[in-house]
Amino acid sequence: MQDFIHLWDGNKWNGPITDGHMHLDRNGRCLDAAIDFERSGGTRIILVHKPDFSSLPEDIEDVSAAYSDTLSIAKEVRESTKIQVQVILGPHPVVWSHQLESIGEERATELHLNSIDLALRHFVSGDCVGIGEIGRPHFPVSREIWNSANVMLEEILRRCASKNAPIQFHVEDRGALTCQELSQICTAAHYPHSLALRHYAPADVSPNFTSKLPVTVSMGRGSIEKIASTINVDLLFKGEHPPVMMETDYLDDPKRPGAVLGPRTIAKRTNELGKYLQKSLEEGGMGWNQQKIANFLWKIHRVWPDMLYGECT
Ligand SMILES: [Zn+2]
Repeated sequence: MQDFIHLWDGNKWNGPITDGHMHLDRNGRCLDAAIDFERSGGTRIILVHKPDFSSLPEDIEDVSAAYSDTLSIAKEVRESTKIQVQVILGPHPVVWSHQLESIGEERATELHLNSIDLALRHFVSGDCVGIGEIGRPHFPVSREIWNSANVMLEEILRRCASKNAPIQFHVEDRGALTCQELSQICTAAHYPHSLALRHYAPADVSPNFTSKLPVTVSMGRGSIEKIASTINVDLLFKGEHPPVMMETDYLDDPKRPGAVLGPRTIAKRTNELGKYLQKSLEEGGMGWNQQKIANFLWKIHRVWPDMLYGECT
């Protein structure tokens, strides 16, 4: 095993940096954003497919073309940088909720499930490492739509379970309750909890809050302190903690430039987390030693991404 202890030098993390959920858009900064990520120290992107919300797919051919474009963006980033890119493909729950109005529930659901099957074919052939974003609307909807969304989600998980495909959830934020419900849906669908990751997760990473589901935490202000105070140290050093990654959910949308965290955020927050863990308790930190810090950062950026999505070759 690589000696990762010295990758934390007391001030800066010199190891791998993984963004667990990022988008790139040809109409946005695209390759430039990836280069920004790399210049800040970034080494690996979990690149999540983003539908064109201004022109929603009308049939499976549209979806197929959009998936292919995401795969070709990944290829271009690999060719132009040293970044390792792993792709997640899938329809977006918000597309489904928009299409309930435009094409009706029956067709919207059919197109959604066909899009899952297509993404699973890409998974089986090795083009992508998982399915996402899947889930349910993050905004209030009628009870009827909410129930339909949950029924469809269970069916999606059943299909993903048959291929053992990891998934990334896009869901509403009702704190721990959201994770409890996701966990129940996984059980009902016989989907392995160890592969069911909540994206845009709050920074409370305690297994009580997450129901032991893997998470990628949105790394806004205050996130490092919360991660540091909620990580279960016993489970962590026994090697039994559910995976925790960091994400920007960078949207790369020119119309919403300030709407999300930028591509340099993860490197910055990783160094902040290391320093905060290192600071003594008297100084308001956590008083961890170099070995513990390096071990934790190595897990976030290398061990857990590998566990979920496989090693990059
Ligand atoms: Zn996203």
